Amino acid sequence: MDQSGLLRLSIFAAILAVMALWEAIAPYRPKEVVRRPMRWLTNFGILLISAAVARFTVGAAMIATAIWAKQNGFGAINLVGLPAILGGLITIIVLDCVIYWQHRLTHMVPLLWRFHRVHHCDTEFDVSTAVRFHPFEIVASALYKSFFVLLIGADPWAVVIYESMLSGFALFNHGNVHLPKALDRKLRFLIVTPDMHRVHHSSVMGETNSNYGNILSVWDRLFVSYVDHTQNNDHDMQIGLEEFRDKNSQSLLGILWLPFRQP
Ligand SMILES: [Zn+2]
Repeated sequence: MDQSGLLRLSIFAAILAVMALWEAIAPYRPKEVVRRPMRWLTNFGILLISAAVARFTVGAAMIATAIWAKQNGFGAINLVGLPAILGGLITIIVLDCVIYWQHRLTHMVPLLWRFHRVHHCDTEFDVSTAVRFHPFEIVASALYKSFFVLLIGADPWAVVIYESMLSGFALFNHGNVHLPKALDRKLRFLIVTPDMHRVHHSSVMGETNSNYGNILSVWDRLFVSYVDHTQNNDHDMQIGLEEFRDKNSQSLLGILWLPFRQP
């Protein structure tokens, strides 16, 4: 594994460990309900499959694209010649907006929703939900992001930092944890918090189709998809999708096949 891959993996493992520990010590929803061994087997099982598929297909596409753009002076940042820090900051903000729209499109386009519902049919919400994505969605997302890396002319290291932030924030905002209300409110002005993202996993469809952001909360406010809280009690609300609560929607093989199933 190269240097940047090892760095990304280390950051991912560290944040995963911190969140799992936080959930174990102070779970928001009851631990015995959330942490069923079967769920973790399914969610981390599909992570391993998706990671393997990405590694042997387009996993390196974003970095390779950024290196090519830099060497050939392609993309907005390379053309303008911005300082590294400013270029990096712009890359993170633009890619976060790009991911907001990717996420929103996966809810709006029926074919994409078939794959994204693998993430949403989890009937509970914790750090393991953050890694429950169908391999097709991972591959499609890598290609989609690579296109924007090319347009932006993102620096390869800015891409590594962004990708680490993307997975780090996903682990954080799927945590079965609860921040003090005042702190949550302050953080929400800038970033997505677990209490804000949990709304997105409500089985009430209007709430599922809200709060698409990953790092910055501004996109949901700007593009009018922000929902402050669930209509039911956040603590006891039903998580998941109404039409996919059977056993087949919760096993590893079942969720690999889920995009091809009718509800
Ligand atoms: Zn979603």
